[in-house]
Amino acid sequence: MSSHRPRKRFGQNFLRDQHVLDRIIAAADLQEDDRILEIGPGPGALTSRLLASGLPVLAVEIDRDLGAALQARDVKNLDVIIGDVLRLDWAELLQNPPYKLIANLPYNISSQVLFKVLDHRHAFRRLVLMFQKEVGDRLVAEEGTRNYGILPALIQPWFQIVRVAKVPPGAFHPPPKVDSVVLCLEPLSEPRLTLHDEALYRKLVRGAFAQRRKTLRNSLLGSGWGAEEIDRAFSAAGIEPSRRGETLKIEEFATLANLLSTYDREE
Ligand code: SAM
Repeated sequence: MSSHRPRKRFGQNFLRDQHVLDRIIAAADLQEDDRILEIGPGPGALTSRLLASGLPVLAVEIDRDLGAALQARDVKNLDVIIGDVLRLDWAELLQNPPYKLIANLPYNISSQVLFKVLDHRHAFRRLVLMFQKEVGDRLVAEEGTRNYGILPALIQPWFQIVRVAKVPPGAFHPPPKVDSVVLCLEPLSEPRLTLHDEALYRKLVRGAFAQRRKTLRNSLLGSGWGAEEIDRAFSAAGIEPSRRGETLKIEEFATLANLLSTYDREE
């Protein structure tokens, strides 16, 4: 759609660098029984490459004009849904798992997409995604570093993350103001953590990072955790309550979460 003017509110920076597209397709490692989910196909540069594999492609596009143009292509292996991917029911969307999620994501929704993926992680075989470089740096950050936080602590237990390509602004039209990175996230056959209660782990991680400048104890208290139960868990885990959330390894969060879930069961 050459007449389409990119819409900023939808994060429309269209890929025009064929080399980057090659790298995304290579990282997708498409196999004959794969199904592909693409979020934000836009004018379809990546979509065309995906369709060339002959595999079924399910594409969700919020922009009605672009979505309608793709629908009009009337390609047999393409199914286009026009809508906001964050508002769709993903259980309904992902009816024939497993999928490979391959996308040049709009930057403003990438974290929310990852949280959706987490809720449906068993439906995915692989993710190859474009991120703003800062978000990519956060995803692979280790504890104790500036970039560590909720996103890595929630994603790293389940996915192996590999950097596929660094992408400069000039690879897009219009060029964004930031650098980008393509990452490949592969579900681990053996997750890094064993959790009794995943929801509780997430709640704990979110609480620990709610107020980054506070101690872990104060941050958790401020997020509604009870003093008695968290002090009991700190002591049983041998974790100093005066530490900051960002110093905890995911394994330490898991130990705390598993202790807290046993206390819940005692009640
Ligand atoms: N895949 C195309 C490419 O690589 O050139 C377009 C990528 S562009 C960075 C992001 C695309 O996501 C745009 O087409 C935009 O309209 C679409 N988009 C933005 N927010 C969305 C949402 N919430 N749900 C579905 N699509 C969305």
